[in-house]
Amino acid sequence: MKKIALIGSTGSIGRQTAEVVKSHPDRFKIVGMAAGRDSETFRQQVKEVAPDYYASAQNDKKAALDIARLPEADTVVVACSGFSGLEYSLAALEAGKTLALANKETLVCGGDIVNALAEKQGADIVPIDSEHSAIWQCLGFDRKAPFHRLIITASGGPFRGYTPEQLKKVTPEQALRHPTWNMGAKITIDSATMLNKGFEVIEAHHLYGAEYGAITAVIHPQSIVHSMVEFNDGAVLAQLSNPDMRLPIQAALTYPERLECSLLPMDFTKALSLEFSPVERSKYPCFDLALECGERGGNAPALLNAASETAVGLFLDKKLSFTDIYRVIDAVLESVPYAPVHSYGDIKAADALARAAALTAAHNLR
Ligand code: MG
Repeated sequence: MKKIALIGSTGSIGRQTAEVVKSHPDRFKIVGMAAGRDSETFRQQVKEVAPDYYASAQNDKKAALDIARLPEADTVVVACSGFSGLEYSLAALEAGKTLALANKETLVCGGDIVNALAEKQGADIVPIDSEHSAIWQCLGFDRKAPFHRLIITASGGPFRGYTPEQLKKVTPEQALRHPTWNMGAKITIDSATMLNKGFEVIEAHHLYGAEYGAITAVIHPQSIVHSMVEFNDGAVLAQLSNPDMRLPIQAALTYPERLECSLLPMDFTKALSLEFSPVERSKYPCFDLALECGERGGNAPALLNAASETAVGLFLDKKLSFTDIYRVIDAVLESVPYAPVHSYGDIKAADALARAAALTAAHNLR
């Protein structure tokens, strides 16, 4: 019986994790559960799941962090979104738990210190994000396996065919309508700007020890091929399935075993076209910003992330246009100087600086 602590239980990945656990009651048990807010949804979920321990960060941050360190848990699923995820991931690794990671910010902002801590504690990190799970599956569930190139697929978001003029006028409602995946608000907007794909390249760098030059992003509108790995002999392995996060969530809990999963199977008795095209870099300037920040390292990815969280928040509140998301992030990266990071404290300081700088930048644009 695998005992799981679930952080961010009320979000999209958190709810689906609870569903996966429920479908295999003989294999998994959720022993602890934490959510950001003490919402009605959370209370309802606590009643249904009946974990031994639960806490909301809103009521008691320390108790919520303790869920990530529960002695009873083997695996901690960090499924909350945003910068706060990093703190939970560090707590889980510090306690020597296997970290099943859905939170992007953990590796984007803290990749170096997170990897160093995992190494020191002998703790595993397993990916939940569909792209990184696909790569992991192609590598035989071995993050250290050799490869030549990682090919990360991207749907291109809801505005793939838009002109720059059309992009200026898109509304939060339009941006929140993702063509193939149903996800949280921040990540859906980040998919539309392709900042999300930039984050995923940074994560892949940290997860698989890949040089940035050995990672390629490719537009694949059908979201059937979740990513690919090219090996030294030129062979390319891909992982395909209908888009459904329950598969990567379950794989992170059962690897190297594969259990029955209730997702819709692929139907190859019907005609199916899979398209691939290069990323049009001029259309997605946030993607390039992310790659630059990844290569620069230090505080740059944390600045990028904090600036994006602030800018996307303002866009969702209709206080910033869609194309100004890029301008705000770019202004923050211009105004806050580069610094190396050695600790969580350094990253937190960079995060705070960038949030303040993003508000100033957004104000100056108006
Ligand atoms: Mg993804």
